[in-house]
Order: sequence, then structure tokens, then C-alpha cells
Amino acid sequence: MYRDPKAIWLREVVGRAGFATPEAFSAEFELKPYRIEQLYRAAMRELLGGVEDVTTLSLDLRARLQERGIRFSTVEPVVVQRSNDGQTTKALLGLRDGKQVEAVLMEHREGRTTVCISSQAGCAFACAFCSTGQAGFSRHLTATEIADQARFFARELRERGKKITNIVFMGMGEPFHNYDAVMEAVALLHDPNGMGIGHRHITISTVGWVDRIDDFTNEHLQVNLAISLHAPDDETRGSIMPVNRRHDIAELMAACERYVAATKRKVFFEYVMLAGTNDSDRHARALADLMRGHLYHVNLIPYNATPDAPFQGSSDERVWKFAKILEDAGVPSTVRHNMGTDISAACGQLRVETQPKAQRLAATPAF
Ligand code: SF4
Repeated sequence: MYRDPKAIWLREVVGRAGFATPEAFSAEFELKPYRIEQLYRAAMRELLGGVEDVTTLSLDLRARLQERGIRFSTVEPVVVQRSNDGQTTKALLGLRDGKQVEAVLMEHREGRTTVCISSQAGCAFACAFCSTGQAGFSRHLTATEIADQARFFARELRERGKKITNIVFMGMGEPFHNYDAVMEAVALLHDPNGMGIGHRHITISTVGWVDRIDDFTNEHLQVNLAISLHAPDDETRGSIMPVNRRHDIAELMAACERYVAATKRKVFFEYVMLAGTNDSDRHARALADLMRGHLYHVNLIPYNATPDAPFQGSSDERVWKFAKILEDAGVPSTVRHNMGTDISAACGQLRVETQPKAQRLAATPAF
């Protein structure tokens, strides 16, 4: 299904300013289509701060657009932290209604720049090891609220002569719980007339909502699919991920097989290493059995302990032993380098540390 990025952007920008339709906006300012194109390119291609910076428009028009509430960005930085090694920058971003989301920029030594973005304020899926899950769900983000997190870092990178090379939907929220807005955000991020990030450089990570995996399969996009698996058997997974009670591992793996059959694309499986919970030799062998013979790749993720979660990360020795069992079984895997541990770089942690505990626990998981 084709999604028109300019139409998505315009609908949201003028909607926030109180216009019923883009047509009503164009009529009030007597804007020809090429003027709309100029505004869109200024925001999403040239990454300008706001209408006041669009010098192709007259000063008078800029002033009137500003006065009428036309704004390019939906996010404002609340807290920005940079790791001591300068490779990781984490931003807590405020939305217009006061909600806050997190986005992380990772500048890898070999030159890749990856931005991890949020798709929801909070999350309804209540994974036991996740700060965001423990705080509950607030609301879905709109497509521009999602894309603007990348835009925020793209503007920052540009000042240093750099660009975003990769986007991962691995921040706050379950992307497939907000499916339509996430797909619209992908269109905005990808648009060659906008931010121009290739589909193959975008990864969506899902907790395993089977119906939506099938919808995604049917999109036939080159966007990467990652599954937050975190356990190879229903008993362990069900104890840390409530979603497993709705879609068990057999159902999830069947959806992944359908995806690979239809797209011929690899699936990535995320596996956070929790000491004494999912990191035994038995778990590693069961994971190898699930993965073997398929176009699958496992990412083992060292765990950042959070203030409220009753988990500790596996030791380095345990992580490498686990990885060795996968390797011996012929399963491709990577141990992810944990970036930015000095700035609480795990999902939800910055928000946890900047909000009082009572506020965090007030929200109730809805899933
Ligand atoms: S890990 Fe992802 S899906 Fe699970 S609670 Fe956290 S944000 Fe939600």
C-alpha cells in the first residue's frame, strides 16, 4: 500500500494548527501546490527549524504561518545526555501535550549512525524486564511525532557534517500496536524528497503481535523485521512477556516462516540476557533448535538493570558461553555492544530517572 509522505506530513502539520483539511489551509493562505512542496522540503529535506527559516517564502507569509500555528517540529528536548565516549546521545523529548518519549543516537566507530526511536508514549505490553513496560501505556504517537525524533537528531548531526544512516524502532512502545502511524512514519523517513533513509536501513522490532506481522509481510517492504523473543520456550517467555499468552512461540515462529517465505528476507531475533532467567545452557540449546535451518539471526543483548526490575544482567562469561552454544549449533548470532551505559541508554531508563516514582507507577498496563 502506497503512503504519500507529503500528504501525511501536511495533514498532521495543518491539523495541529486547527485546520480541518489541507485544502482549507491552502485556501486560507492561497498557497499553490509548489508552495506546499517548498514547506515540506524545508522541514523534511533541508531540516530547517521552522517556517521562519524558509527564505523562499515572503517575510509576510512566514509571519502569518507562524502566527497561525504552523510548526515543523512536534518534539522539544527536555533532557539530552551524551556518553563519556561521545558515541551515544540520549534525548528525552517532550510532546505538545506534555508526554515524553526517548530517542537515542548511536555513532558507531565504523561510521554508521543509528537512531533508535519510540512509537508510543509508554507501552501496554508490560515486559517484566523493561522500564517502559513497567510504567504502562499513555498514548500512540502520530507519524510526525515518530519521524520528528529522527529529525531532531538529523539536525544535530548535520551541524557536525554527518547524517543518519540507520533507524531502529526499538525505543518506547510496541510499533505494531501503533501500526498505521508507524508505517506512515516509515514513509516519511524513507521519502527520497525528505529524509531519504533506505528501507533496508530501517528496522522495526516487535514483541510478536502475529496478526500485524502478517500485515507487515503483505506490505512487501524491504524494511527489516526484528522479533523481541527473549526466551525459547513458552514457560520462560510467558513469565517475562505477557504477550506470549496471546500468541505463543509456535504461532510467532509460524508467522516468521510466512514472512521469510513471502519476502525472502532475514528475520532478526532479539534476546536480552537475564541472569538465572533465560540464560542457561538449556535455554541456549532450545533457542538453537528454534533457529536452526531458517533465515534467522540472533542478537544477544547484555541487560541494563533498571531501578524497578527484579532482574540482573548475565555475566559476560555467561553471555559468551550462550553465544558459543549457538555458534556450535550453526546459528548466526551477534553479541550486541552495549553503548552508553553511563547515560542509562536502555529503553525507558532516562524517563525513569527524570520522573518521580509515584508518577511512573500511576499508569496501568492495558494489554
Ligand atoms: S520491551 Fe518493548 S514491548 Fe516490551 S514493554 Fe518494553 S517497550 Fe513494550
